[in-house]
Amino acid sequence: MDAQTVTADAHALGGAGGSAAAPTFLEQLIEAGLLIPSGVLGLYGRSETFEAIAESLNRMVKRLGEDHHAETLRFPPAIGQHDFETSEYLKSFPQLAGTIHSFCGDDRGHRRLLARLEDKEDWTDQQQPTGVVLTPAACYPVYPVIARRGPLPPEGKIINVMSYCYRHEPSLEPTRMQLFRQHEFVCIGSPEQIIAFREMWMGRGQAAVQALGLPMELDVANDPFFGRGGKIVADSQRELKLKFELLIPVNDGLGPTACMSFNYHMDHFGALWDIRTADGGTAHTGCVGFGIERLTLALLKHHGLDPARWPQSVRDTLGGQ
Ligand code: ATP
Ligand code: ZN
Repeated sequence: MDAQTVTADAHALGGAGGSAAAPTFLEQLIEAGLLIPSGVLGLYGRSETFEAIAESLNRMVKRLGEDHHAETLRFPPAIGQHDFETSEYLKSFPQLAGTIHSFCGDDRGHRRLLARLEDKEDWTDQQQPTGVVLTPAACYPVYPVIARRGPLPPEGKIINVMSYCYRHEPSLEPTRMQLFRQHEFVCIGSPEQIIAFREMWMGRGQAAVQALGLPMELDVANDPFFGRGGKIVADSQRELKLKFELLIPVNDGLGPTACMSFNYHMDHFGALWDIRTADGGTAHTGCVGFGIERLTLALLKHHGLDPARWPQSVRDTLGGQ
């Protein structure tokens, strides 16, 4: 736990405690009712006001990509275990994955479960895996669907997808949640198509954030690959400039937060799912991801906790929310 954020603990966990120090951003959000603590770090309810901002951002993202005439797909926030295994997520991010377990026993098993609960003992080992895994990134359900359709059209394919995503990263920073939304455009095609798509979105992303009146910087980045081997993968990702992030200062006294990412996966997903281009080659993929909660928090941080008092230009950019 971060010493700097410990004071937010009582509030984040739903306690009534406060501190004499100035309230942290998380405490302010909770105090204003924008985020509703659940007793678990990084798991929050959202108020009507928070959701109205999030929905405006979702509409804005869709408008920004209107010229793609993308296919819109929506999935529940979970994928099948088979697709999860194919994605090799466990190779890179075992520390972030969330799997769904359920009680599958009989009456005797049920009595055992209730006895554990009664005795305040661990009862979770009485559950079995369900074959369902929480979606770690909004684009993951898209690849197997496109692969099953056969070779891509010559112009490639662009998909709009939005989903709650799960990552096991409990934190006192409001920007690092365990369940949050990513709104993505995913491009599947040739390397040239992906590079052009990503270039264009880096420009669009920056223009949108500027119109929202937020400070930002664009920087090359890497994913948090697990372990010692992961460092080599992360270094190579950086060197090849496969990931860029648009960063906005949001949290108290910390560096800026990645609110959008622009990713080129080369043929990683194309090879895993055997996605083919029109001429039979392995497809390349890329995605641009907007972090809906992080962008909402950035707006609240810079323009204040009451959207009715935000600058007109910001409200207009959001579509008059
Ligand atoms: P970070 O480096 O901050 O962990 P990331 O690079 O892993 O983020 P991506 O995997 O690129 O993030 O996800 C795309 C976007 O989803 C991010 O730019 C961010 O806006 C959002 N996002 C990622 N993780 C979280 C989280 N734990 N809580 C809220 N939003 C998140
Ligand atoms: Zn993605």
